[in-house]
Amino acid sequence: NATPAAQGCIFCAIAARQAEASVVYEDETVVVFMDLNPVTPGHLLVVPRVHAVGLEDLDGVTSAHAWSVGHDMARALRRSTMRCEGINVLLCDGEVAYQTVFHFHLHVIPRYAGDGWTL
Ligand code: 5GP
Ligand code: ZN
Repeated sequence: NATPAAQGCIFCAIAARQAEASVVYEDETVVVFMDLNPVTPGHLLVVPRVHAVGLEDLDGVTSAHAWSVGHDMARALRRSTMRCEGINVLLCDGEVAYQTVFHFHLHVIPRYAGDGWTL
């Protein structure tokens, strides 16, 4: 269930500023930071402050806000000097869907011609 912080959860720790991250945006509901192992330059993660594992336990209001911030981040990347040519906004829910951190997050992934990244 969605709780304010989960023991041992790295994204809860980052949201609480108890772990290091390159934060690029934050508000009362979400924090956005650079992925530690970016698949392309500028790879961002949009993370609700509340601990929810995935789609099943994240409330709709928080989810809607996270997607909206993801949209804003994608637009900002398109307008930035990163000069990306496309964007993937991606959610991995469940181990078979390549989820590795079990705290809900959206990937905002700038795409460049020939960047070679495949899911
Ligand atoms: P998933 O596969 O769960 O959708 O994605 C988890 C993402 O979180 C991966 O892209 C991984 O590089 C990133 N990640 C994992 N641990 C950390 C961390 O401690 N800090 C940051 N900034 N990113 C992390
Ligand atoms: Zn968490």
